Amino acid sequence: MSDLQNTLYESLNRLHSDLSPTTEAHITIPFGKVAHIRLTFESKIAQEQPESDAVLATRALANVDALIRQDRTYAAQLRIAETIGLSHLTTHMLDFLQDHDNFYRAVIRGRQAANAAVKDEEMDLLERVQRLIADLRNVYNLNIIYETRHPGVTRRIQEAGQFDAEIRELGKLLGDEVVRLLRCLEALDPYFDKEVELENVGPDHDINDFGQEIQMVIDCFQEDAKAGGLDGESDGDGQDRDHSRRCCICIDEYTMQHPAFLLLRCGHILGAPCLDAWLNGTAASANLCPHCRAQLCKRRARRPKPSPPQTQTEQEKKALYERLQRIGKLFTEVSRVYGDLHGEGKFVEHFNGTMRGLNGRFAREGVTFWFCRANVRGRLGVRGWRLTRGVLRVGTETERVGEGEFEVEV
Ligand SMILES: [Zn+2]
Ligand SMILES: [Zn+2]
Repeated sequence: MSDLQNTLYESLNRLHSDLSPTTEAHITIPFGKVAHIRLTFESKIAQEQPESDAVLATRALANVDALIRQDRTYAAQLRIAETIGLSHLTTHMLDFLQDHDNFYRAVIRGRQAANAAVKDEEMDLLERVQRLIADLRNVYNLNIIYETRHPGVTRRIQEAGQFDAEIRELGKLLGDEVVRLLRCLEALDPYFDKEVELENVGPDHDINDFGQEIQMVIDCFQEDAKAGGLDGESDGDGQDRDHSRRCCICIDEYTMQHPAFLLLRCGHILGAPCLDAWLNGTAASANLCPHCRAQLCKRRARRPKPSPPQTQTEQEKKALYERLQRIGKLFTEVSRVYGDLHGEGKFVEHFNGTMRGLNGRFAREGVTFWFCRANVRGRLGVRGWRLTRGVLRVGTETERVGEGEFEVEV
């Protein structure tokens, strides 16, 4: 009997020591009683349930809660099963043993899957992280179940810090992947790396609303040219004299094709085609006189110029967003493990902290995306996060340009 106990415990320990520091988690419970009983009564108790690990864990935890209500412990319940012998066990005792057995096997399966994932360099990162999370959670549940949710066991695991270290490590793996994917998205759509092209909204301005064409006196122009040279900027009022014969936008003289235009608002004179181009341009200050910055009209609304859609690129983007969605779910799972260990309330705190941490990293590394709080509440009534393409500053306005379809549900 004790040999059997050791074998099971040892096999689990061996698996454990094979794992990288990332996946290392203690399995400290010497299971074996069930294995011993199984040898004799295999057919009676070892009906493996085709359920997911989570279902088996939930049922084992439900057993624990039932025992707590009866003021009994899980270990004592196993000892009773061992003492009584299977042939005398009541139905509920047999169910308890089956649940125990199935969950224990699920934990071993999970550990083997995690172990294989660490060794398999070909395996997709997200698949690996998924298995490591499952293993971490199983091992935590195994400890909690065997100790009948004794507060000491949680404290011991908390103090050991190993779970926290693994949770951090998993968060970092996922964070690296998020940054990598966002870099791919940026490469597909370098919108933000370059100047964003904007276009005005609504109809163009008619410059005749702001002034009128005038005839420049050629004599005056020629006198100036004689007095101070063509540039005429050596003396203090050279600028003003210069403005009377040259357009301050293109610095060319006025001609038939480039007639002088007088702005009524401030009295400045500019070339008519230049003023037209200026007023209908996309500069933040296109509503101001380019000479004295007097406001001629309200700034027209602008929006980013839509780029022509590219099917190939769109598909690549879709795949990247889908992967980001999967990562969002894994972040939730990692935080859930954290919540298991530190208390339900810490789950949301950890998740929000993860998102803020990523935003900090994006800012430091110049990633043009960020997570903002979503207005939608998730299943638990908690606000999620939304992936958004960076914030662009144009003049004094802040414009949000483009938005990803990535949402994280907490
Ligand atoms: Zn001009
Ligand atoms: Zn002016």
